Amino acid sequence: MNIYGTSHQQKRDALKPTVDAGNGICAETICLEERDGRTRWIKPGTQWHLAHDPTDPSRTTYLGPAHARCNTSEGATRGNRATNKHERRWTL
Ligand SMILES: [Zn+2]
Repeated sequence: MNIYGTSHQQKRDALKPTVDAGNGICAETICLEERDGRTRWIKPGTQWHLAHDPTDPSRTTYLGPAHARCNTSEGATRGNRATNKHERRWTL
């Protein structure tokens, strides 16, 4: 299944005028811009992604627009969490 298919693109296109107008707010759970002392506002002309709802296993629910770096980081965090699911065990 291609989660970045036509539907994803259409939804992103639908949001583009909002972001371009300066009304985009980062929808990620953890916004790195906000954490760094800036705001969740997405500056028009900067890179942004359409963020998926991580709690939806079918990956068809969208949170909304997100800073590119927040979206990428969120995905990376989720990947790390999956990798580190098992507690570290020492072999003695
Ligand atoms: Zn953000």
